Amino acid sequence: MINNSVFIYSEEQLTYKFNDDHPFNHIRLQLTKDLLQDMNALSSTQLLAPRIATDEEIGLIHDPGYIDAVKKCGHGGLSIGIANNYGLGTEDVPMFANMHEASALLVGGTLQAVEEVMEGRAAHALNLGGGLHHGFRGKASGFCIYNDSSIAIEYLRKVYGMRVLYIDTDAHHGDGVQWAFYEDPDVCTLSIHETGRYLFPGTGTVNEKGQGKGFGLSINVPVDAFSEDESLLEMYETAVWEVADFFKPDIIVTQNGADAHYYDPLTHLSASVRFFKEIPRIAHEIAHDYCDGKWVAVGGGGYDIWRVVPRAWSFIWLEMEEKLEEATGPLPTSWHKKWQPHAPVKLPEAWEDPSSLYPPIPRRDEINEKNHKTLEKALFHIRNERK
Ligand SMILES: [Zn+2]
Ligand SMILES: [Zn+2]
Repeated sequence: MINNSVFIYSEEQLTYKFNDDHPFNHIRLQLTKDLLQDMNALSSTQLLAPRIATDEEIGLIHDPGYIDAVKKCGHGGLSIGIANNYGLGTEDVPMFANMHEASALLVGGTLQAVEEVMEGRAAHALNLGGGLHHGFRGKASGFCIYNDSSIAIEYLRKVYGMRVLYIDTDAHHGDGVQWAFYEDPDVCTLSIHETGRYLFPGTGTVNEKGQGKGFGLSINVPVDAFSEDESLLEMYETAVWEVADFFKPDIIVTQNGADAHYYDPLTHLSASVRFFKEIPRIAHEIAHDYCDGKWVAVGGGGYDIWRVVPRAWSFIWLEMEEKLEEATGPLPTSWHKKWQPHAPVKLPEAWEDPSSLYPPIPRRDEINEKNHKTLEKALFHIRNERK
């Protein structure tokens, strides 16, 4: 049985960059890759440079008119008024030079991750540059231009005939992927996120369950603001096992946004890095139990790029390599030396967060109880059908 993993990366992925003030910053890819290399957990033979996705591949999900608009925006050929119709040139998705090429490279990376796994060259593949789950068929949204996960899932269906379970643990609802496969019986989407009551994109309620032949295969677990590790893990672990057992996927695609952390400036959840250590551990078990190991993982959100994302994303790779236990104690000093001078904050000392990460949450019991009820509603149709 193949049991190796592949890490998709090249410096060109960092060209997906809106501007210096924008919260989305792919220097986190470099920070993560360096951290793994500094602990000797990532060798050059495991690195694979991404390719650029073709228009035909991007067209598996996106409208030709939209692809054309993205191309024109990246080369100064579209007025702001027309660009805005496509969600481009906005505060969230400003125009930048060569934006089509940069976005197509992130898509190509996720497609390559799929190919490595499906062609039997790797059991697991990681493209941290991907995970742009808010991209829609004809519209950019929430920092996302092309939806690499949706494209990769459609590719898995069309080319390889796979039944795909998509698991999204970003703090925001994985709306783009959900709507792309809302009526599809071969794709199940599970999103665990902060409730959309006060957070972008506002969707992802327990009542969004899919439609037609896809009914029951969109599963949403919207948790309350200020939810902590214990409750988040209960939601994730219960949901992911029950959904996998219900759907019986051929492959899992996990989206690993790291923005549920207490430090994240854009969301209101209170996870510590412990949550991000458990997520890939359980995903890995599911991949081997149900999918003969087939697991494609992508990145996603994560806006504390210095203190949170490098550790959270390293855990995914370390888990793929069965080296997660090495992520304890102090971080490599070489990594500190290299990056502390560039960081506006003090980099974390250790793999673990301090127990005093934040003051006690006063409504803890109430929040946990509410989440528990949400989980029951989210899984009701699955549990009911299995009786
Ligand atoms: Zn997010
Ligand atoms: Zn494995």
